[in-house]
Order: sequence, then structure tokens, then C-alpha cells
Amino acid sequence: MTKILSQWGLGPALAKISHKCTSFKMRNEVTGADPIEGTVTLRGGDVVKADVIVAADGHDSIMRPLVTGEEESVDELPGQRYLSLAFQVPTDALREDEELASLTDPLVWYLWVGDGYIFHGNLVVGEQDFTDIETPKTRKKRGRKGEAGHPLVPGSRHSTALSIEDAQTLGRLFSHIQHKSQLPQFLNAYEEIRQPRVSATQEYEQRQFGMFSAPAGPPMIQRDAMMRAALAYEDWEHMDEDTFKMVWGNELALMGHDAGEQVDDWWTQWRSFFEGKERARQRDSIQIPVLQPASYD
Ligand SMILES: Cc1cc2nc3c(=O)[nH]c(=O)nc-3n(C[C@H](O)[C@H](O)[C@H](O)COP(=O)(O)OP(=O)(O)OC[C@H]3O[C@@H](n4cnc5c(N)ncnc54)[C@H](O)[C@@H]3O)c2cc1C
Repeated sequence: MTKILSQWGLGPALAKISHKCTSFKMRNEVTGADPIEGTVTLRGGDVVKADVIVAADGHDSIMRPLVTGEEESVDELPGQRYLSLAFQVPTDALREDEELASLTDPLVWYLWVGDGYIFHGNLVVGEQDFTDIETPKTRKKRGRKGEAGHPLVPGSRHSTALSIEDAQTLGRLFSHIQHKSQLPQFLNAYEEIRQPRVSATQEYEQRQFGMFSAPAGPPMIQRDAMMRAALAYEDWEHMDEDTFKMVWGNELALMGHDAGEQVDDWWTQWRSFFEGKERARQRDSIQIPVLQPASYD
């Protein structure tokens, strides 16, 4: 995601807010951290101290075990295991091919489903490339957290969205902090707000993946029947309500999520509590000058 953000202008955006931060340490590898002390160790030995450490070091996060207390790698969990292949084809190469030229419609997401695998693709990066993901199921593995906090099934369509929502949630929550003693409560709020959303998305992705890559048999027949019902309509504007809900209901509920709104709702509920506590803290910390006894000499 760092690459995507760089394309979107991460560098200039950081430069713009640099006056609000002590410093940005670019291209520094983190080799360890002490969450109790609030320190991060960089390769080379420097130790950086902070009030909060946000670990966003991706799928192979070295920080995850410090938070979860588990040493296991997300790739070594028992359950289902998938092989996911991702590649990009220059759109021009497709356009030059008579049979493949039809794949260059920017409004279409192409999907091929088979016996235990799914193959899908669409135009990306200003329509210069067509990206494909092929995901045959190879053996059992239980899908669990993805990326640093919540790894998803490879090829999931909501991974990046979840990461951006995480950042938005944290940013908006922290904009309400008035004193650093409130940090633990706001971090708890972050968990409380994000956990249900992340779990629901993980379950949705697992379900979708299971359905689309179903091996030959009853689940595949059921899926094909549903897809045929959906394709019987020219477009979704003419779909009857029941079919629309069956095909797109869950997807729309997932896409309609507004992470900022979730924080606003939470803040509406808790604002007076936090502001009252902060007023009390300020009152208690006011230094009342002690009058010196008058001298009667
Ligand atoms: C081939 C492929 C195709 C994908 N397609 C899609 C898609 O179509 N849609 C979608 O939503 N998602 C897609 N994803 C998933 C998406 O890329 C991730 O969900 C997203 O990048 C996660 O963002 P992140 O910031 O959590 O982690 P990352 O993007 O992995 O960023 C982690 C950053 O931390 C840095 N880092 C790691 N360790 C350390 C360390 N010790 N010290 C310092 N820095 C460190 C890394 O250099 C990196 O810059 C795809 C992923 C892959 C691999």
C-alpha cells in the first residue's frame, strides 16, 4: 500500500504536515519494539520513544506477535491453504489480440469460476494494465488475520479498503484526545469500533472465496443457479428486489460502510464522559497558591 500511497502523493502530503511532527524517519527498518516502554528499535541500534506505536508493517508483520502474544505465522495456521497468483498484462497487448480485446472494457470485472479455483481480472492503473488473480485451493488452512492487523484471503477485494478505514478511524479518534492519559481508552475504542467490521469482512471474503472456488458438487450447482438468476436480467436496475438482495445485498452492506461515521457515533455517545473527566483532571491539577502566614514580627 505504501507504493500506492506514494503514487497518490504520500511524499508531498507528509512534507505538508511535517511542522506538526518531530520528524519522519524514512527508509528505516524496525527490528524490535517494547510496547510496555513505548520504544521502537531501528536497524543500526537507534531507539525511538513514543506515546503510541502504530504497527502497519504489512502481512509479515514483526510487530503482530508483540500485540497478540502469539509466535505463529499467519501462514502456518491449520485449516485451509490457498495458492494465489497475481499478474498484470499491458492493456495494449490485449487490445492487439482479436480474442482478448473484449477484456479491455473498463467497466467490467471479469470472473471465471472452475472446479476449486477462481480467476478474475479487471483494468487497473489508469487502464494501462489488466490484472489477474488465479486462486486454486490447494490444501486446508484456516484463513485468519491479514496484513499487520487483519490478514485477509489472498486476492480479497477489501484488504486495502480495510487498511484505509483503520487509518481513518485512528486519525478521527485521536483528533478528540485532550490528554495523553486518555490514550488507553481511545485505543480500546479503536478495537471496539474496528473489530466487528474487520471480522464481518473477513467472514464475507471467506464465504465469497469458498462460494466462487467451490469444487464440483452441490455448492457449485447452487452458486451457478444464483449466478444464472442474476444474469437473466439485462442489468441490475431491472432486477426484482429479492434477486437483487440475494446477489448484491451483502456486497452493498459491506461497501456502504463509513468508518468516519462509526467514530462520530462513538464520540456522540462518549463525548460528555471524556470532556467531564478532562475538566476534572484539569481542576485537580490546578496549583492553588498556598498563602504564607503573615509575619507579626
Ligand atoms: C499481488 C497482490 C495483489 C493485491 N491486489 C489487491 C486488490 O486488488 N485490492 C485490494 O484491496 N488489495 C489487494 N492486495 C492487498 C493489498 O496490497 C494489501 O491489503 C495492502 O497493501 C495492505 O496495506 P498495509 O499498509 O497494511 O501493508 P503493506 O502495503 O504491506 O505495507 C507495509 C509497509 O511496511 C513496511 N515494513 C514492513 N516491515 C517493516 C519493518 N520491519 N520496518 C520498517 N518498515 C517495514 C513495508 O516496507 C511496507 O512499506 C494485493 C496484494 C498483493 C500482494
